Formats: sequence, C-alpha cells, structure tokens
Amino acid sequence: MIYVVADDRNDQIDNDDVKNQVIYSIVVPLFNEELVITESYNRLKAIMDSTNENYEIVFVNDGCKDKTESIVREICDRDENIKLVNFSRNFGHQPAITAGMVEACGEAVVVIDADLQDPPEIIPAMIKKWREGFDVVYGKRTKREGETFFKKLTSKVFYRTFNKLTNIDIPCDTGDFRLIDRKVCDKLNTLPEKNRYVRGLISWLGFKQTSVEFVRQERFAGKTKYPLKKMIKLALDGITSFSYKPMTFFGYFGGALFLIGFISFVVDLMRDELGNLGVMSLSLFLIIMMMMFGITFIAIGIMGQYIYRILDESKNRPNYIISDVIHYNKKNSKDK
Ligand code: UDP
Ligand code: MG
Repeated sequence: MIYVVADDRNDQIDNDDVKNQVIYSIVVPLFNEELVITESYNRLKAIMDSTNENYEIVFVNDGCKDKTESIVREICDRDENIKLVNFSRNFGHQPAITAGMVEACGEAVVVIDADLQDPPEIIPAMIKKWREGFDVVYGKRTKREGETFFKKLTSKVFYRTFNKLTNIDIPCDTGDFRLIDRKVCDKLNTLPEKNRYVRGLISWLGFKQTSVEFVRQERFAGKTKYPLKKMIKLALDGITSFSYKPMTFFGYFGGALFLIGFISFVVDLMRDELGNLGVMSLSLFLIIMMMMFGITFIAIGIMGQYIYRILDESKNRPNYIISDVIHYNKKNSKDK
C-alpha cells in the first residue's frame, strides 16, 4: 500500500495506484440501528461525495439483532465505497471502532456514531484541519441537544475526575467522534491492550492534536445503545487503563485510619480509660463498623476491577471476532 505522508497531504496525486488509493475512511459502529442507518448512510455519502476524493465507509456490525445488517448488505451491493465488517456477536462499541480502524485503508480515518448525534457535515472542517497538518482532530461539543441532565452531568464529572486522576488530558466534552491520520491509526492498531478506552489511547499517543467545535444533535431515531451499565464499564476502563491512584488510595487511607486508632489508643491509655467502650452506644458502634466494612469491600471491589483486567490481558483473547467482511470493491480491502 502506498501511503501519502503527512507533508504530502496537499500534493497533486498523479500516479495511477495512488489515484485508486482511499483517502478517507469513515468508521461507523452499529448496534441495532435499523431506524437510523439509511439516513446515516445518505448523509455520509452526500458529504463524502462532495470531497471529490476516494473514500470508504466501514460499517461495523456489532452483533445487530434487527434489520441493520440486511440494510447495509443491500447498500454494499450498489455502492463500491462501502465495507461491512460483521462481528460474530455483540462485543461493544470500543471493540467495534477498534475493528473499524484495523479494517480502514484511508490516509485519514474518521470515527462517527451512526445515530447522527455527531453531524457528518462537520467532517469537511476536520479534513481541513488535517490538511493543515494536524494528526488528530477531535469534535468538541459546545452544546448537547436532547440529552438527559443525568448524562450531561455524569459526563462532566467523569472527564474532570479522569483528568485529575491521570497524567493524560482528555479534552472535556469530546467523545470518539474524531479524525486521525494514518500514522496515528497504525500506532493505535499496534497497541494490544484489552478493555480499550480508545479516546484515552489516542490522547496518550500524542501527535499534533486540535479540535473543531460542534453542537451535538438529538439522536435521529431509536434509543441509546449505551445504558448505565455500559457507561460505567467504559468509565472504569478509562480510569483503570490510565491511573493507579484508586488502587493505591486505600493503602494511604488504611494507614491514616491506623494512625488515628493508634493515637486514640495511646491517649486512652494515658487517661486510664481503656476498655471504657460503654460510653459509646451499640447502634453507633454498629454504624461505624458497617461503614468500615463498606470501605473495606469498596477497596476489594476496586482491586477486583484491576485484577479482572489483568486476567483479560493474560488470557490474551482477541477484542472481537469477525465472522465476515463484505466489500463490493475488494481493491483496497484488507480482507483476509
Ligand atoms: N454501539 C455499538 N455497540 C454497542 C453499543 C453501541 O456499536 O454495544 C454503537 C451505536 O450503534 C452507535 C454508537 O455505538 O453508533 C454510539 O451509541 P449510542 O449513540 O447509543 O450512545 P450514546 O450517544 O447514547 O452515548
Ligand atoms: Mg448516540
């Protein structure tokens, strides 16, 4: 494959091989999106056609149980720019975008949700920044329309906590909607870790990063595919991937608690009041015990979060299983 290196981004493309080269790959993860997929394809196609350059749209079917797959298969039959990657089951959003990036052939790879909350019309602005020489162009939400107060609040609290806990900075109010250069994509694809937090990995990689601002729209149709359980898993993947502070915190906490206990013991000893527990009511004693046990189990739970991820690394199972890849035009495909 011939790559257009960063400095040649604006050069005239003469060579025939290079003319067939895919310049843009749009990666779209799909989980039960039958209500939005047609509109999503139409809007993406309109915007990508307007670039007058070669592009592909890589739809990743993350184990859809509705008609999404058959709709995309029909699109594949008539549009040579479409590739469909089918997972053997639902593996999750992050594995889906990971697979899309591995299958993508373009010099610039854009990840975008299917539900049109991230408007495809922003992509040309991202391309412009990329042509100026930026390697990562992420979408920054200035406003979020049609999202619950709870989602907006948890997102704000999470990013602020994340940036405090870790040494890398994820820009607030960003998601996975972003453009990355081929070299960033290649580096990302070499990172072998499981339970991936892709936006964190991209920040961790570095390179020249910038943002374009946009207003996040309401979901075009259907319901969110990110219930609270999946949101918590994603947040914990992010924190455990990039910070060891939660793990070490309880050591310091335990140390401080021991110190307080020891000082109280010495003070009581000096006052000759040791064993005078009768002063404390039984219910207060039980409440304190319950809180102490609670904290101990939270600490064990946090350790558990790290330990199961270590186990996943040592098992070394793949992040996803592809059942098949469907592509009208095999020329630029990486199909095995
Ligand atoms: N998605 C996926 N696998 C999942 C959950 C979601 O591929 O297990 C896709 C989904 O189809 C969509 C994107 O990930 O294209 C983001 O999901 P959604 O819009 O439901 O999340 P939200 O915007 O509500 O956080
Ligand atoms: Mg959405």
